Amino acid sequence: RLELKNICKEFAGKRVVSDLSLSVAPGQVTCLLGPSGCGKSTTLRIIAGVERQTSGELWVDGNLICGDGIRVPPEGRSIGLMFQDFALFPHLSVAQNVAFGLTGSKSETHTRVMELLDRVGLDGFEAKYPHELSGGEQQRVALARALAPRPKIMLMDEPFSGLDDRLRDGIRDQTLSVLKEEGTAVLLVTHEPHEAMRMADEIALMRGGRIVQQGNPYNIYNAPVDKEAAAFFSDIN
Ligand code: ATP
Ligand code: MG
Repeated sequence: RLELKNICKEFAGKRVVSDLSLSVAPGQVTCLLGPSGCGKSTTLRIIAGVERQTSGELWVDGNLICGDGIRVPPEGRSIGLMFQDFALFPHLSVAQNVAFGLTGSKSETHTRVMELLDRVGLDGFEAKYPHELSGGEQQRVALARALAPRPKIMLMDEPFSGLDDRLRDGIRDQTLSVLKEEGTAVLLVTHEPHEAMRMADEIALMRGGRIVQQGNPYNIYNAPVDKEAAAFFSDIN
């Protein structure tokens, strides 16, 4: 379980994240949803550990990982990352990409790689290289790679935005079923209400660095907190 407590972030005195508190349970997908510039990626970077909050605390499974003089480095946080550009290693095969963060024996690594490639629907792709794959296939390799070390928390920043419109919903659904099978706690960043409605168990609606409304998609859609929230959801297809 991931917990953010009263996270604030300022850049040169300008506050971009304000008093943000949030909790994500294992097997649950929480969406940070909001317009461009509202502080979504900054929040993810703080959780990943590549940026440090100005104040507030981060907890994973009841352990303080950042705050109050404690700072666990990014690689010690059991966090998987997936961003818009899948950033596969071009010189490594599919299997080598997926195996990248694994430290076990050769046979354990092989078993885990094959299990994940099967789960994302890419058996038979292990010897291929990233340039031989479609965007959707690359996305699935990136998903398998991020999940391979069994992270407790998965952070995803607009992971579908680079994909062809016609494929996107199918890939969203498939990604969701893989995430649910793995049972990871997922924090997904998006500026698209449709994506949040389709994937989230819980939506945290952000504006100007704050969470203005939080709840299940049904409640957020049916009872928006104000006119701006209603307008944000109005053009959903
Ligand atoms: P988008 O949907 O466009 O990706 P976002 O919600 O992810 O937007 P952030 O990238 O978190 O937004 O940025 C929030 C605010 O913080 C913006 O006003 C941005 O200009 C500012 N910001 C982000 N990183 C820095 C930085 N390193 N230095 C100064 N300001 C920054
Ligand atoms: Mg962003």
